Order: sequence, then C-alpha cells, then structure tokens
Amino acid sequence: MTIFNLQNRVAFITGGNGGIGLGMSKGLAAAGASVVIAGRNKTKAQSALLELRSLGAQAEFMELDVLKEASCHQALEHAVERFGRLDILVNNAGTTVRKQPEDLTAGDWHLVMDTNLTSAFFCSQAAYPHMVRAGGGKIINIGSMMSVFASSYATPYAASKGGMVQLARSMAVAWAKDNIQVNTILPGWIDTELTRKAREQVEGLHEKVLARTPAQRWGAPDDFAGIAVFLASPASNFITGVAIAVDGGYSVQT
Ligand code: NDP
Repeated sequence: MTIFNLQNRVAFITGGNGGIGLGMSKGLAAAGASVVIAGRNKTKAQSALLELRSLGAQAEFMELDVLKEASCHQALEHAVERFGRLDILVNNAGTTVRKQPEDLTAGDWHLVMDTNLTSAFFCSQAAYPHMVRAGGGKIINIGSMMSVFASSYATPYAASKGGMVQLARSMAVAWAKDNIQVNTILPGWIDTELTRKAREQVEGLHEKVLARTPAQRWGAPDDFAGIAVFLASPASNFITGVAIAVDGGYSVQT
C-alpha cells in the first residue's frame, strides 16, 4: 500500500544490529527503505546485514558509540554520504544498570542516562538538517514501560525512559513546522539480550511478566516491525508527539 511504502527512504537505527532495533530494521527494510544499522558490535552487525539484505534491502553497518557526541554526528554523516539523504531516525540504543538507588555510582548514572537519553538528543540534532533538506522526516524514540511505571532497581533507566517521551514531545512541537514527526514507542517486556540478563538478576521476573501480560507471552523483536513502518511512513503524517505502547496489554492491566 502506498501509505506504508518506504521506497527511496533512508533509515538510520541506533542499535539496529540486534534485538528490538533489528526487528524494526527488518520491518523498514521489508517496506522498501534503505537501512543503516549503527552500533558497536560488528559480529552481530554482520549477521543482521545478511538478514536485512535477504529481504531485498540495501543495508549498511556504521560504527557508532552513542556515548560520544562526535560519533553520533559522524555516523549520521557517513550514512548520508552513502545513501544521499536521511528520512527516518530510530533512537533505539539502550542499556541499564540494575541496582537500588543508594548503591548507584555517578558512573552508573551517566552510563544509563547518556546511552539512553542524551544519545537520542545528539542523534536527532545531527539528523535534523538532513531531514529539513529532504522536506520532512520521522524520528522514533524507544521508551519503555518504565517511561510510565517505576522500579526500585531501575532509577536511571526509568528517568531516561521518561525523558525519552518528553524529548520526543518537545522535538515534535519544535519541528512540526519542518514536517518532521517525532513519536515514542513504549515496549512491554521483550525477549532480547537486555532482558535475558534481567531474568538472571531479578528473581521471579519471567513468571511476573507472564502473569501481568494479557497476551500471556513475552514480546519478540519482530513485534516491532509493524509499528516502525507505521511511524516511519506517510500513514502517520498527522501523528506527532505521542507515545504508543507495544506491550501485549501490559499497561492496561490493573
Ligand atoms: P539489546 O541489548 O539487544 O539492544 C541494545 C542495543 O543498544 C544493542 O544493539 C547495542 O549495540 C546498542 N547500544 C548499547 N550501548 C550502545 C552504545 N554505547 N553505542 C551504540 N550502541 C549501543 O536490547 P533490546 O533490543 O531489548 O533494547 C533496545 C531498546 O529497547 C533499548 O533502548 C531498551 O531500553 C528498549 N527496551 C527494551 C525492552 C525489552 O523488554 N527488551 C523493554 C523496553 C524498552 P551494540 O551491541 O553494538 O553495543
């Protein structure tokens, strides 16, 4: 369908080399976009590129450390040099440190805040002039259930993910004049490297997630293909500044 067609569009996905980022990248690639996956781990990136190219997409890996502002700017510039334009940015790279607030170090705080939130600001700022030149664009932030709920072991993570929603809303207001839509996806509990570690560290988590999720399963990275295409395509041109849960009903369960 034309409103979901991403042919001739170029997408840049931070952390697109695995997990939810790869799930979204596959959706964008299948809808016709050229896809740049950006991250640190080249081994994961090689197998991700094979998957993306098998969908018939043009796909490249750009090295990126989102903790460095210069790296964000350079990776975005390289993507534009390679494909000639930039239409879609997905701010997906993320991490966490699971400790009680009283045990967190300044290093823990900055690692999580800078990886999850500050990086989204740097990458969006770097993307902005290219989107203006293209006549518009789509920015998708990845939040979390912890954009809304809280947890004793996720203080900086929850602060950063709450911040992702407000960052998106502020950029949505500022850049609507440029035909740039900025929205946030709030994933429920998804089976990825990040949460495999959580299941080892938090006793009973697996069962708690199943009990609280009406869909009665953990999400999979491929569950994010459709929402990524929707928020990246003309289908969502009058939708900006919103946060959409993709959580199997987790957030509406009492
Ligand atoms: P993964 O650990 O599989 O993915 C995290 C990605 O972030 C990796 O691809 C990693 O790339 C990238 N990344 C981390 N640090 C950096 C860095 N300094 N520079 C560049 N890239 C970096 O986990 P998920 O797929 O689960 O997480 C993706 C996003 O979804 C995160 O923002 C996470 O908070 C969010 N989320 C996940 C949920 C879940 O249940 N899984 C729930 C809610 C939100 P590399 O390996 O190359 O460093």
